[in-house]
Amino acid sequence: MSDAPATAPRSGLRLLHVHAHPDDESSKGAASTAKYVAEGAEVHVATCTGGERGSILNPKMDRPEIAENITEVRRQEMERARDILGITQHWLGFIDSGWPEGDPKPPLPEGCFALVPLEEAAAPLVRLIRELRPHVLTTYDERGGYPHPDHIKCHEISVAASAWAADPEKYPELGEPWQVSKLYYHHSFNRQRMQSLHDAMVAHGLESPWEERLREWKPEPEWDARVTTKVPCGEYFGVRDQALLAHATQIDPDGFWFAVPRELQVAVWPTEDFELVTSHVSAPTPEDDLFAGITLGATIPSEA
Ligand SMILES: [Zn+2]
Repeated sequence: MSDAPATAPRSGLRLLHVHAHPDDESSKGAASTAKYVAEGAEVHVATCTGGERGSILNPKMDRPEIAENITEVRRQEMERARDILGITQHWLGFIDSGWPEGDPKPPLPEGCFALVPLEEAAAPLVRLIRELRPHVLTTYDERGGYPHPDHIKCHEISVAASAWAADPEKYPELGEPWQVSKLYYHHSFNRQRMQSLHDAMVAHGLESPWEERLREWKPEPEWDARVTTKVPCGEYFGVRDQALLAHATQIDPDGFWFAVPRELQVAVWPTEDFELVTSHVSAPTPEDDLFAGITLGATIPSEA
């Protein structure tokens, strides 16, 4: 919950981000989260899994006592990130599916999130949407942002639950129906953004971390054109970075996340980018605000 006064510009507005693992809330959309919290909105994060099968990605944290207690360690990291971002966080209680490695890929582990049937997997989120009554919900695109099975599942349950939460026929035992006004996909892994940051690094004589990645990643103009919404949030990149660092097992402070100087990021790409997928309010795109078109107490449902 934010401590912003009731007269804050976003007072009364509610945003729910649905993420697959602890740390995803800090690596996707975290600066806009911090901005909306600072402006008085109520921002919630639903985390589908506990990140139980995540690898330790920071060599400085790769120690046996941490690996043995990874679930508890990641829970504590999430609490720190939550406090830094000023959000309220909710665990949906599913088990991390892990990143399948090998050729051919091994079957997903029994009981993992990705294998839970959709109707069952969406139920806790339907309940949460009806309880929190968010005006805006964000999730990943149909490719998962990147193709981790939990990210794709997160997309599927978010799209289904935001529709089902509004349907009185669905899960009548899980609360009063609630219509989310706007549903967005994150566009965090954006080739244009990476190219712009890369070009700026090179222009400043700095070593870019993206050289190889950009060579392999062909331009995707049609995909890039799906971005409808660019939220200016450069002044909150510092909060985003602190939240990321709180996930110490997942984020190497000497790794690529921090290879581009923050000043350069602010100068070159000071927004976080989203795609408006469903809207029940009048909100012409392009826009620069996830809450555009939402008027408290006067939301007129209409299909977009
Ligand atoms: Zn993830």
